[in-house]
Amino acid sequence: MKKSNPTIAAERQYVIEKEKFVPVSQYFGEDTFNQAVIKEKLPKDVYKKLMQSINEDKALDAETANVVAHAMKEWAIEKGATHFAHWFQPMTGTTAEKHDAFADPNGPGTVIERFSGKQLVQGEPDASSFPSGGIRATFEARGYTAWDMSSPAFIKRNGISTTMCIPTAFISYTGEVLDKKTPLLRSLRAINKSAINMLKLLGAKNVKRVHVNLGAEQEYFLVDMDYYYKRQDLVLGGRTVVGAPPAKGQELEDQYFGSIKERISSFMHDVEEELYKLGIPAKTRHNEVAPSQYEIAPVYEEANIATDHNQMVMETLKYVAKKHRLAALLHEKPFARINGSGKHVNWSLSDDKGNNLLNPGKTPHDNIQFLVFLIATVRAVYKHSDILRATVASYGNDHRLGANEAPPAIISVFLGEQLTRILENIEKGTVAKATNAEIIDLGISSLSQVSKDYADRNRTSPFAFTGNKFEFRAVGSSQSIACPTFALNTMVAESIDELAEKIKARGTRNINQAVFEVLRSEIRLISPILFNGDNYTREWEAEAKKRGLPNEKNTPGALKALVTDKALSLFEKHEVFSNSELRSRYMIYVARYIKDLEIEVNCLNNICMSQVIPAAVVYQKDLAKAIIRTKEALGSAVVLSSQAELLKTILDLINSIYTTCKDIQARVETAKAIEDEQKKAETLCVKVKPKMDELREYVDALENLVDDEIWPLPKFWEMLFIC
Ligand code: ADP
Ligand code: MG
Repeated sequence: MKKSNPTIAAERQYVIEKEKFVPVSQYFGEDTFNQAVIKEKLPKDVYKKLMQSINEDKALDAETANVVAHAMKEWAIEKGATHFAHWFQPMTGTTAEKHDAFADPNGPGTVIERFSGKQLVQGEPDASSFPSGGIRATFEARGYTAWDMSSPAFIKRNGISTTMCIPTAFISYTGEVLDKKTPLLRSLRAINKSAINMLKLLGAKNVKRVHVNLGAEQEYFLVDMDYYYKRQDLVLGGRTVVGAPPAKGQELEDQYFGSIKERISSFMHDVEEELYKLGIPAKTRHNEVAPSQYEIAPVYEEANIATDHNQMVMETLKYVAKKHRLAALLHEKPFARINGSGKHVNWSLSDDKGNNLLNPGKTPHDNIQFLVFLIATVRAVYKHSDILRATVASYGNDHRLGANEAPPAIISVFLGEQLTRILENIEKGTVAKATNAEIIDLGISSLSQVSKDYADRNRTSPFAFTGNKFEFRAVGSSQSIACPTFALNTMVAESIDELAEKIKARGTRNINQAVFEVLRSEIRLISPILFNGDNYTREWEAEAKKRGLPNEKNTPGALKALVTDKALSLFEKHEVFSNSELRSRYMIYVARYIKDLEIEVNCLNNICMSQVIPAAVVYQKDLAKAIIRTKEALGSAVVLSSQAELLKTILDLINSIYTTCKDIQARVETAKAIEDEQKKAETLCVKVKPKMDELREYVDALENLVDDEIWPLPKFWEMLFIC
């Protein structure tokens, strides 16, 4: 391909004009209708009512909603907004927003800016064009969006247009969930209830609320926009379906934490400025392992807000990248044979005073509480590792999970040496012989040393305890963190409830003793899920099999865990999903897998037939001509074996590409005829995916033979190293 000159790429750099430096603290959150603004703009009694509704999770009365809406409108107009939008997270994988102007006809030829409480609280976007997984077949197509008071409205600037976005839940007209926020909110309610009950049982007083905290570490790639637009596979599917490995990859290990290039630094600066305005506490930024790969991590926040913020981070990365003439790639594996992108989701629980329930404490009592929540979580993951695996299953993440860079598809839990030893001692009963006070001291006082630094940095574990939180590392980079989180919350809620039942069954007269006995027997049961070793090895795969841990490598297989009786009853019991809601969700995920795969097949076919083969044929013709002309010039006795061999190889590769394309098409057609969606997905996975990999081998071999000047696609080395 005709090269973009790297110096031209540098010149294209987006120029940042800094008029004057403004400290972040002076503008942080200025584009959000946050608590400080609410307090300033609302009459005292309205403010109180609103806060009460937010804190107690209650609906707002119409009158108060009107006053709040008015204040919001005034604020948004001051910020330059002409429109408002209910911002929601349907099952499409991205966010959605339907804009309405504040301006409303007010007599002939005039308008007035209006925004009512009713418009704030509820919207009615047509739900018929959003994935519903069958809910629509039995119910009305209409849907509505309901204001999520717990996440602040924000200003979204897009070019010269400015819109006030209101975070909302998206529900069918009959109240069934159509989005990712609703189950998250329901799961937060469930775990709040269970955790408060447990805390009470353990003797805590006055705990009103237990929060889930999330910190998402977002990985992404950046490539020059010129290259991006020349790759339909990147534009349409997010991933390169062909491309030979560059001569240099990541083997020099010179990218991770390396100094950040100027163009990228400027981009990151702009991203952060946007995020700060939106009240998103972007904290950490660095180069990641692969060339052109980066990470951004905000400080953790309450789960619902952190989930909205992660969506906003992903949108901002894409939006700001365009301004810098870059493309931000959020796909889990944009480049084969180069590290993929994940999203570590850090998860913990805290009470309303901000005490982290997963923080080993200084007193024996704190440590009992810590152990209960720790073991409840591990136990939940053990019991429902198949569900957790299902929540990170996607066509994109299949390319990454289990590769030698990301956690395997086997879910295990890492606790580190010290905690493991303590649990072993509790289980063995080494400490059980002593008196009650001694038991606790002897066994658990050393827990206060389980500091963040002590916690092992085992990066291969999919679910690791890192000092005072769990880190779920199997999540894909493009995914909403809502899904793994609502699953985790729900299963931990169940686990806490079950532990509470067992503790109560032993009598609460000596609560510590009862807790201790329960933990002791539970540790024995959950031990197969604990693994501190290297998760990337073959030995672990064999060992995990012996332990009976599931190992679903592909999405179609993994998704089935969502519709087992175990899963249906778990989510139903905690009022996160009714059975039909969960089944519909499963249908949506299966359908999505099929669509993602088919889009890639189409891209691959198109690239092969309309770009790769035509270019190869041109080169073939040139070579053939050269051979004939050389013979004409030097006589037929001249030896041209290398050119002839090259020509033959190219011819063979063209043939292989052509026939494999046809074969893939035929296999897709066969799969399409299968009515059962699960079977269709499995067939595509087993019959088509390996053929796509085979096809890629031919194309990549050809790429290394055909004249570089006529190769129609930007190559990996260009995309990954010219920036
Ligand atoms: P790393 O995993 O890269 O070593 P850190 O330990 O700094 O990084 O944490 C990564 C993310 O975890 C950050 O978003 C951070 O705010 C978040 N985090 C830290 N403490 C907690 C907690 N108690 N609960 C949830 N997330 C947390
Ligand atoms: Mg991490």
